[in-house]
Amino acid sequence: MRQTVAEEMGETFPEAETLCAPGMKDLSGGKGAIALVPAAGISARVLDNMKMAVQSAFGEEALLVMGAEGEGWVCPSGGPGRQVPASCLITRLAPLRKAFERVLGVVDTGLSHPGVNHVFGFTDPESRVSVMSLYHLGRKGEAPAKVARRASKTAIHELGHSYGLPHCRDHRCVMFFSFNLTDTDYKDSGFCKKCGKELSMRLNPGVHERKEVC
Ligand SMILES: [Zn+2]
Ligand SMILES: [Zn+2]
Repeated sequence: MRQTVAEEMGETFPEAETLCAPGMKDLSGGKGAIALVPAAGISARVLDNMKMAVQSAFGEEALLVMGAEGEGWVCPSGGPGRQVPASCLITRLAPLRKAFERVLGVVDTGLSHPGVNHVFGFTDPESRVSVMSLYHLGRKGEAPAKVARRASKTAIHELGHSYGLPHCRDHRCVMFFSFNLTDTDYKDSGFCKKCGKELSMRLNPGVHERKEVC
Protein backbone atom coordinates (compact mmCIF):
# COMPACT_ATOMS: atom_id res chain seq x y z
CA MET A 1 0.00 0.00 0.00
CA ARG A 2 1.34 3.35 -0.98
CA GLN A 3 1.62 5.76 1.87
CA THR A 4 1.83 9.47 1.76
CA VAL A 5 4.89 10.66 3.58
CA ALA A 6 5.06 14.24 4.55
CA GLU A 7 6.76 16.48 6.96
CA GLU A 8 5.21 19.70 8.02
CA MET A 9 5.87 22.84 9.93
CA GLY A 10 4.12 26.04 10.64
CA GLU A 11 1.28 25.19 12.97
CA THR A 12 1.14 26.87 16.32
CA PHE A 13 0.23 24.81 19.32
CA PRO A 14 -1.45 25.93 22.52
CA GLU A 15 0.68 27.07 25.40
CA ALA A 16 2.37 24.11 27.04
CA GLU A 17 0.96 22.95 30.31
CA THR A 18 3.28 22.76 33.26
CA LEU A 19 4.34 19.18 32.87
CA CYS A 20 7.83 19.75 34.09
CA ALA A 21 8.46 16.79 36.32
CA PRO A 22 11.07 16.93 39.12
CA GLY A 23 13.88 15.52 37.00
CA MET A 24 13.38 18.12 34.31
CA LYS A 25 13.72 21.00 36.75
CA ASP A 26 17.29 19.94 37.44
CA LEU A 27 18.42 20.23 33.84
CA SER A 28 20.38 23.41 34.33
CA GLY A 29 23.53 24.31 32.53
CA GLY A 30 22.11 23.55 29.10
CA LYS A 31 21.28 27.14 28.15
CA GLY A 32 22.56 27.78 24.67
CA ALA A 33 22.71 24.07 23.92
CA ILE A 34 20.54 21.90 21.71
CA ALA A 35 18.80 19.15 23.69
CA LEU A 36 18.29 15.82 21.99
CA VAL A 37 15.67 14.00 24.03
CA PRO A 38 15.31 10.32 23.10
CA ALA A 39 12.55 8.01 24.16
CA ALA A 40 13.73 4.87 25.91
CA GLY A 41 15.28 2.21 23.71
CA ILE A 42 16.64 4.40 20.90
CA SER A 43 19.91 3.02 19.56
CA ALA A 44 23.05 4.56 21.05
CA ARG A 45 24.63 4.48 17.60
CA VAL A 46 21.83 6.60 16.16
CA LEU A 47 22.03 9.07 19.04
CA ASP A 48 25.82 9.42 19.01
CA ASN A 49 25.80 9.94 15.26
CA MET A 50 23.01 12.50 15.60
CA LYS A 51 24.76 14.41 18.37
CA MET A 52 27.94 14.77 16.34
CA ALA A 53 26.08 15.68 13.15
CA VAL A 54 23.95 18.32 14.90
CA GLN A 55 26.97 19.90 16.56
CA SER A 56 28.77 20.01 13.27
CA ALA A 57 25.81 21.48 11.36
CA PHE A 58 24.94 24.24 13.83
CA GLY A 59 28.23 24.85 15.59
CA GLU A 60 26.32 24.61 18.88
CA GLU A 61 26.71 22.15 21.71
CA ALA A 62 24.26 19.25 21.55
CA LEU A 63 23.38 17.36 24.71
CA LEU A 64 21.67 14.01 25.01
CA VAL A 65 19.01 14.28 27.68
CA MET A 66 18.47 10.69 28.67
CA GLY A 67 15.79 9.28 30.92
CA ALA A 68 13.29 12.06 30.32
CA GLU A 69 10.72 9.51 29.19
CA GLY A 70 10.13 8.61 32.80
CA GLU A 71 9.15 12.23 33.35
CA GLY A 72 6.11 11.76 31.18
CA TRP A 73 6.87 13.48 27.89
CA VAL A 74 6.06 10.53 25.64
CA CYS A 75 2.38 10.68 24.77
CA PRO A 76 0.22 7.59 24.49
CA SER A 77 -0.27 6.18 21.02
CA GLY A 78 -3.25 7.98 19.61
CA GLY A 79 -3.91 6.44 16.22
CA PRO A 80 -3.52 3.45 13.95
CA GLY A 81 -0.09 1.86 13.62
CA ARG A 82 1.07 3.06 17.06
CA GLN A 83 1.18 6.63 15.84
CA VAL A 84 1.54 9.41 18.35
CA PRO A 85 0.29 12.92 17.54
CA ALA A 86 3.29 15.18 16.91
CA SER A 87 1.40 18.05 18.57
CA CYS A 88 1.14 16.10 21.83
CA LEU A 89 4.91 15.52 21.98
CA ILE A 90 5.64 19.16 21.13
CA THR A 91 3.43 20.36 23.97
CA ARG A 92 4.97 18.00 26.48
CA LEU A 93 8.55 18.79 25.48
CA ALA A 94 8.05 22.55 25.54
CA PRO A 95 8.94 22.99 29.25
CA LEU A 96 12.49 21.86 28.41
CA ARG A 97 12.96 25.06 26.43
CA LYS A 98 13.47 26.81 29.78
CA ALA A 99 16.76 24.96 30.05
CA PHE A 100 17.83 24.61 26.42
CA GLU A 101 18.13 26.77 23.32
CA ARG A 102 16.44 24.15 21.17
CA VAL A 103 14.72 20.86 21.95
CA LEU A 104 14.34 17.85 19.67
CA GLY A 105 12.39 14.80 20.85
CA VAL A 106 13.32 11.50 19.18
CA VAL A 107 10.81 8.65 19.23
CA ASP A 108 10.59 5.25 17.55
CA THR A 109 6.82 5.17 17.29
CA GLY A 110 5.13 6.65 14.23
CA LEU A 111 4.18 10.33 14.28
CA SER A 112 0.82 11.55 13.12
CA HIS A 113 -0.32 14.94 12.00
CA PRO A 114 -3.72 16.01 10.68
CA GLY A 115 -4.03 15.63 6.91
CA VAL A 116 -1.16 13.19 6.28
CA ASN A 117 -0.63 9.49 6.93
CA HIS A 118 2.49 10.02 8.93
CA VAL A 119 5.35 12.45 9.35
CA PHE A 120 9.14 12.03 9.60
CA GLY A 121 9.37 15.03 11.86
CA PHE A 122 7.64 18.20 12.94
CA THR A 123 8.73 21.58 14.26
CA ASP A 124 6.64 24.16 16.02
CA PRO A 125 8.16 27.55 15.13
CA GLU A 126 6.50 29.26 18.10
CA SER A 127 7.92 27.10 20.88
CA ARG A 128 10.95 26.12 18.75
CA VAL A 129 10.46 22.53 19.78
CA SER A 130 10.92 19.71 17.26
CA VAL A 131 10.07 16.04 17.22
CA MET A 132 11.15 13.29 14.86
CA SER A 133 10.46 9.61 14.47
CA LEU A 134 12.75 6.75 13.49
CA TYR A 135 9.75 4.58 12.66
CA HIS A 136 9.85 5.13 8.89
CA LEU A 137 13.60 5.68 8.53
CA GLY A 138 14.69 2.09 8.12
CA ARG A 139 13.41 -0.85 6.16
CA LYS A 140 13.99 -4.33 7.49
CA GLY A 141 17.56 -5.53 7.01
CA GLU A 142 19.05 -2.15 6.16
CA ALA A 143 22.47 -1.25 7.49
CA PRO A 144 22.29 0.53 10.86
CA ALA A 145 24.76 3.13 9.58
CA LYS A 146 22.35 4.06 6.80
CA VAL A 147 19.47 4.47 9.21
CA ALA A 148 21.69 6.53 11.50
CA ARG A 149 22.58 8.88 8.62
CA ARG A 150 18.90 9.35 7.78
CA ALA A 151 18.13 10.07 11.41
CA SER A 152 20.88 12.70 11.58
CA LYS A 153 19.64 14.41 8.40
CA THR A 154 16.10 14.44 9.74
CA ALA A 155 17.29 15.92 13.03
CA ILE A 156 19.26 18.69 11.29
CA HIS A 157 16.30 19.40 8.98
CA GLU A 158 13.87 19.81 11.89
CA LEU A 159 16.28 21.89 13.94
CA GLY A 160 16.86 24.00 10.82
CA HIS A 161 13.13 24.79 10.86
CA SER A 162 13.38 25.73 14.52
CA TYR A 163 15.92 28.37 13.51
CA GLY A 164 13.43 29.67 10.97
CA LEU A 165 14.75 28.05 7.80
CA PRO A 166 12.08 27.14 5.23
CA HIS A 167 12.25 24.25 2.78
CA CYS A 168 14.86 24.54 0.06
CA ARG A 169 14.59 23.65 -3.63
CA ASP A 170 18.12 22.26 -3.75
CA HIS A 171 17.75 18.45 -3.67
CA ARG A 172 21.17 18.16 -2.05
CA CYS A 173 20.41 20.59 0.76
CA VAL A 174 19.37 19.18 4.13
CA MET A 175 16.41 21.58 4.10
CA PHE A 176 14.95 19.90 1.01
CA PHE A 177 11.53 18.45 1.79
CA SER A 178 11.79 14.64 1.87
CA PHE A 179 8.83 12.97 0.27
CA ASN A 180 10.44 9.58 0.80
CA LEU A 181 13.65 7.89 1.90
CA THR A 182 15.20 8.22 -1.56
CA ASP A 183 15.05 11.99 -1.08
CA THR A 184 16.55 11.67 2.38
CA ASP A 185 19.37 9.43 1.12
CA TYR A 186 20.13 11.76 -1.78
CA LYS A 187 20.39 14.93 0.22
CA ASP A 188 23.43 15.94 2.17
CA SER A 189 23.55 16.39 5.93
CA GLY A 190 24.64 20.00 5.43
CA PHE A 191 23.05 23.22 4.27
CA CYS A 192 23.38 24.63 0.76
CA LYS A 193 25.18 27.94 0.43
CA LYS A 194 21.96 29.94 0.62
CA CYS A 195 20.54 28.11 3.65
CA GLY A 196 23.93 28.13 5.36
CA LYS A 197 24.09 31.91 4.99
CA GLU A 198 20.54 32.29 6.28
CA LEU A 199 21.31 30.06 9.26
CA SER A 200 24.47 31.96 10.04
CA MET A 201 22.51 35.22 10.13
CA ARG A 202 19.97 33.70 12.49
CA LEU A 203 22.64 32.23 14.76
CA ASN A 204 24.72 35.41 14.85
CA PRO A 205 22.42 38.32 13.98
CA GLY A 206 24.66 40.96 15.55
CA VAL A 207 27.71 39.98 13.54
CA HIS A 208 25.88 40.21 10.25
CA GLU A 209 24.23 43.51 11.11
CA ARG A 210 27.66 44.99 11.67
CA LYS A 211 28.96 43.52 8.43
CA GLU A 212 26.10 45.07 6.50
CA VAL A 213 26.89 48.48 7.97
CA CYS A 214 30.48 48.16 6.75
ZN1 LIG B 1 10.65 20.32 6.66
ZN1 LIG C 1 19.21 24.99 1.01
